[in-house]
Amino acid sequence: MLSLYNTLSKSKEEFKPLNPGKVGMYTCGPTVYSYLHIGNIRAYLLSDTIRRYLEYIGYEVRLIKNITDVGHLTDDDVAQGDSGEDKMIRAAEREKKTPEEIARFYEEYFKQTEKELNIITAHFFPRATAHVPQMIKIIEGLFEKGYAYEKNGNVFFDVTKFEDYGKLSGNTLENLKVGARIEEHPDKKNPWDFALWIKAPKEHAMKWESPWSIGYPGWHIECSAMSTEYLGNTIDIHTGGEDNIFPHQEAEIAQTECYTGQKFVNFWVHTRHLLIDGKKMSKSKGNLFTLEDIKEKGFSAMDLRLLFLSSHYRSQTNFSWDSLEQAHKNIQRINDFILNLEAIASREIESTENFNISLYQEKFDAAMDDDLNTPLALSVIYEIITEGNKNIADGALSSEDAKKISARWKKMNSVFGFILSGQAEIPQEIKDLMHKREQARKNKDFGASDEIRALIEKHGFVVEDTANGPIIKPAS
Ligand code: AMP
Ligand code: ZN
Repeated sequence: MLSLYNTLSKSKEEFKPLNPGKVGMYTCGPTVYSYLHIGNIRAYLLSDTIRRYLEYIGYEVRLIKNITDVGHLTDDDVAQGDSGEDKMIRAAEREKKTPEEIARFYEEYFKQTEKELNIITAHFFPRATAHVPQMIKIIEGLFEKGYAYEKNGNVFFDVTKFEDYGKLSGNTLENLKVGARIEEHPDKKNPWDFALWIKAPKEHAMKWESPWSIGYPGWHIECSAMSTEYLGNTIDIHTGGEDNIFPHQEAEIAQTECYTGQKFVNFWVHTRHLLIDGKKMSKSKGNLFTLEDIKEKGFSAMDLRLLFLSSHYRSQTNFSWDSLEQAHKNIQRINDFILNLEAIASREIESTENFNISLYQEKFDAAMDDDLNTPLALSVIYEIITEGNKNIADGALSSEDAKKISARWKKMNSVFGFILSGQAEIPQEIKDLMHKREQARKNKDFGASDEIRALIEKHGFVVEDTANGPIIKPAS
């Protein structure tokens, strides 16, 4: 039984979908004004892991991940969507391009990065700029119900009208009053009211007609519009990074629930931040690494995937090259083991020993069921490897068991999502050399066998002789 930590109730809850067998999921996607960094990747990996595990246990998942290409202002993460510059426009000025060119370029980069990380593609990536009419419709509905007000062409959500404001973040109006005051927009009634629509200055690059002014939407309204459009009024799971909780998603709840009169989200799931030197990795601070930085140092996207899965999504993690090095070694260890299994499976080895792989899979399931405990689930894999290698060394792993472990691994790996270099990538030419070497060894022609080994190594592969015969793998 899967339980997930729900930020709304601040406790682990048993997961139950609205409709049997189906799950609707929404993930706050990237603001496409610059390169995605590995902290962002951690947030999308959480969404991917939830989806993968739900599919593993038999659900049909529909995942929507939006592309923010308008309305996210530079001060939005601290203010209420009405101060600062549009991040897209600032980037367009910096790069001497149009906001649209900026958006498409970084959107493509984001999608490419997700692909390299083997993050399963969302069912749809709706763009904010393509949903302005839906946003206007919701704002009109909020006016009708008395939650929105307009002044000088700017429209705000009146937070005092929504009793539940603060239920996600704990930032109730009561709590906010005692905290630091934010800079007040002159058109607002209350400093914590947030922008739904902002009147655009004449020279503003991205603007639309609306009943209130020629302007642009506030950042938060886009997720309400796209979530209800593609998943309905109430959804099962909404994910994001912890910085999305306030003000962004608190505002999403307020405007969506006031508009629909229904509960917006059943499970709110958030990843804690990836830190660097103890501070949040962020685009605005510039203390970031991209996937390219990782690759330049000789690591792969899969090393990064394993590094992230090695810590629980609800613990803040400090990025270090040493931990990435360890992740690299662990990926190699898994890869080597799978190669060994394949080699044994392809022979006809019998053994009186039985490998109880079902027991391990039960442990894996229990770890994942407990709020997606990926570090524990990975440790189960390492246990399989230790036990399996011991058996291999003793010549005690049968081909039948190797096949069974291999099949279960594939299933478990549908959750981890590792792409391993595997036997399939060994070129035919190398396989032929291996065959020749085995013949030479059978004929006790060790000189020829050593020469062939050297030739294989020249091609970037290594040969490992085990109790059950030689195994070939790419040199690391
Ligand atoms: P942005 O493109 O800035 O809107 O961020 C995209 C996603 O990445 C959001 O869900 C953020 O919460 C998440 N995010 C940003 N920085 C980090 C970080 N350092 N660690 C984890 N998630 C992050
Ligand atoms: Zn959002």
